[in-house]
Amino acid sequence: MTDASKQSKDSPQKKVGQAFPQEVLDVTGGELLEFFEQLDPEACCPVCKHDISIMAAIKYDEETGQKEFLEQPAIVGMPLHEYPETGATYKTPCFVTSCQKCGHLNYFMVNPVVKWKKSHDNKG
Ligand SMILES: [Zn+2]
Repeated sequence: MTDASKQSKDSPQKKVGQAFPQEVLDVTGGELLEFFEQLDPEACCPVCKHDISIMAAIKYDEETGQKEFLEQPAIVGMPLHEYPETGATYKTPCFVTSCQKCGHLNYFMVNPVVKWKKSHDNKG
């Protein structure tokens, strides 16, 4: 029993479950679309040229199995580095776009979006 408490205190896995920063959680789906729009109004799927969609966050109820799509964009922790010595993985938060026609997924690190949002908010 003492081993278990010692293990959880020093576990390198602890960081994986850390919450995403509030400034990332505050980005709306509309702002994300606006971000892509100002980069390239013709932005589309790189595979089939169909429109891209913002993946929405899903609220999942483990007890009932019910899924509810939320208005905010989904954020996923994308693994960037693995440390075999400790078993830890460094992840960076990403927004995800998808193509409804061919299923292609794209991951975008959140920092450029947050930086754009800050400068955009200051202008308005
Ligand atoms: Zn496509």
